[in-house]
Amino acid sequence: MSVLWRILSYLKPYRRTLISGYVALLLSVAAQLAIPRLVEFAIDHGIAGRRLQVILAAAVALVLAGIAQGLLTFARSYSFQALAENIAYRLRHELYQHLERLSFSFFERAYTGQLMARATEDVNAIRRFFWVVPRTLVQSLGTLVAVSVMLFLMNWRLAAISLSVLPLLALATVHFSRKARHLFLEVQQQFGVMTAVLQENLAGARVVRAFAREDAERARFDAELRDLQDRSLKAASWSALYTAVVTTLGAAGIVAVVWYGGREVLAGNLSIGQLTAFYFLLILITQPIRMLGWMVSSTARAIASGQRVFEILDQQPEIASPPSAIDASRIRGAVEFRSVSFSYPESGVASLYDISFVVEPGQRIALFGPTGSGKSTLIALIPRFYDVTEGTVLIDGIDVRAYDLRSLRQRIGLVLQDTLLFSVSVRENIAFGRPDACEEEIIEAAKAAQAHDFIMELPYGYDTVVGERGVSLSGGQKQRIAIARALLMDPRILILDEATSSVDAETDQAIQQALQRLMEDRTAFI
Ligand code: ATP
Ligand code: MG
Repeated sequence: MSVLWRILSYLKPYRRTLISGYVALLLSVAAQLAIPRLVEFAIDHGIAGRRLQVILAAAVALVLAGIAQGLLTFARSYSFQALAENIAYRLRHELYQHLERLSFSFFERAYTGQLMARATEDVNAIRRFFWVVPRTLVQSLGTLVAVSVMLFLMNWRLAAISLSVLPLLALATVHFSRKARHLFLEVQQQFGVMTAVLQENLAGARVVRAFAREDAERARFDAELRDLQDRSLKAASWSALYTAVVTTLGAAGIVAVVWYGGREVLAGNLSIGQLTAFYFLLILITQPIRMLGWMVSSTARAIASGQRVFEILDQQPEIASPPSAIDASRIRGAVEFRSVSFSYPESGVASLYDISFVVEPGQRIALFGPTGSGKSTLIALIPRFYDVTEGTVLIDGIDVRAYDLRSLRQRIGLVLQDTLLFSVSVRENIAFGRPDACEEEIIEAAKAAQAHDFIMELPYGYDTVVGERGVSLSGGQKQRIAIARALLMDPRILILDEATSSVDAETDQAIQQALQRLMEDRTAFI
C-alpha cells in the first residue's frame, strides 16, 4: 500500500493534466451513455409509433453524440498519455541523478544490468500504470455506478438479479491482486538478472570470443531467458484466469436479462424497447468489468516495479559533502596520511594498514610495490572515492571529509589504470572536466600528454568521435588522452596510476619530460 501511495504521489505536479483528462473522460462517458437511451427513444416512439421524423431526429442526435465522443476520446487519450510520459521522465531523471550521487561501493555491489532494467523496464511498468489506471478506474467506476443507477430505475428486480455477481467479482479481484504482485515482482527481478547477463556479455564480447566461450555463455543467457519466460507465463496464466472469471461473471448478467427480462416483458412489466436498452446498458458495463482485470494487473505490476525503483532512490550516498563544507578551490596541495587503515566494504581484510606520511605542496611522490599491495587503493582515498576505515587523510591540514566534495575533486587530476573514454569527439573527451576550455588550452594539454601528433593523424583530428570505450584507439593512445584530460583540469594534486603503462619507452620518456614541467608546482603521486 505504501509503495502505491508513493507511486501516486508522482501525480502531484500534474494535477491539471489529470483534471483535464477526467473532464474529457466524464463528458465522453455521458455521450456514450446517451446512445442507448437515444436508441430506446427511436424504437419506442419512432418505430413503434411509426413516426419518421422522430427516427430522423434520433439519428441526428446519435451522429452528434458520436462526434462528441470522438473528440472527447482524443482529449482524454492525450491527457493520460502525457501524464504517463511526464512521470516516466521524472522517474528516470530522478534515478539517474541519484545514481550519480551514489558511492563507488554501491556500484561494486550492484549489477549494471539490474540498474539498467530498473531505469528502463520498471519505469515503463509505472508509465503504463499511469496511462491505464487513473483513466480506467474513473471510467469504469463511473460507468458502473451510472449504469447501475439507470438499471435500477428501469426495473429494480431485473437490475438486482443481473448485478448480483458484483460481490463475487470483488472477491476474485482481491484474491488475484495479492497473488499477482508477488508474481510480477519475480518477473521484474528475473528481467533484471537477464539484462545483467546480457550487459556483461556485450561488454565482454572480446573475452567471450577469445576463450571460445560462446556456447557456454549462450546457454547461460538462455537459462535466464527461459526462467524469465516461465515466470512471465505464470503471471500471464493468472491474469488470463482472472480475466476468464470476470468475463464469465459478466455473461451471467446477460443470462439474467434473457431469462428474467423475457418473463417481465411477457407479464407486461417491461416494454421490448426497455428490454433492448437494458441489454445494451448491461453490455456497457461488461466492458468496464473486463477492464478491471487489466487495471488490477497493471497496478500489481507497478507496485512490484515501484518497489525496485524506490529501492535505488532510498539508497543513501555513503560519501557526501558535510553540512557546512569547506570550499577546496584554493587548496595548496599538502597531503597527509595519519595512521590510515582501510578495508574495502564487504571485505574483511585490510588493504591498507596504519599508513602515515606527509607530502608538501609541489612534492612528487612515487609509490612502488608489487601488484595488489594497495597503490591504487591508497590514491583512491585522496579524492574520497572511499573513506578511510581508521585514521585521517588531510589536505592542507584539513580532513578531506570536511571539504565540499565537488570542489575537492575538481582540484585533483586523475589518470586511472583503466581508462574510459566517452563516445564523443576527442576534443570533448579532453575537455571532459572543463567543458569551457578554449582550443589553445586543449591543444596545449594534448601536446604535453604527447597526444597532439597522433590526434592530428586521426580522420577528423580533434573532432574524431572515438567509439564506445574508445575501441578505435590503442591502449596507449587512450592513456595519453586521459593524461591530457587530467592536465586540462589544472589540478593542485595530480595522480597518475600507471598512466604510461601502455606506451612504449620512447613515448614514456617524452611524456615524462613534458610532465616534468607540468608537475613543477603541483603535488604529484605517481
Ligand atoms: P596493481 O599494481 O596491480 O595495480 P595495487 O597496488 O594498485 O596493484 P590495489 O588495487 O590497491 O593494488 O589492491 C589492493 C588490495 O585491495 C588487493 O588485495 C585487492 O584484492 C583489494 N581490492 C582492490 N580493489 C578492491 C575492491 N574494489 N573491493 C575489494 N577489494 C579490493
Ligand atoms: Mg593499481
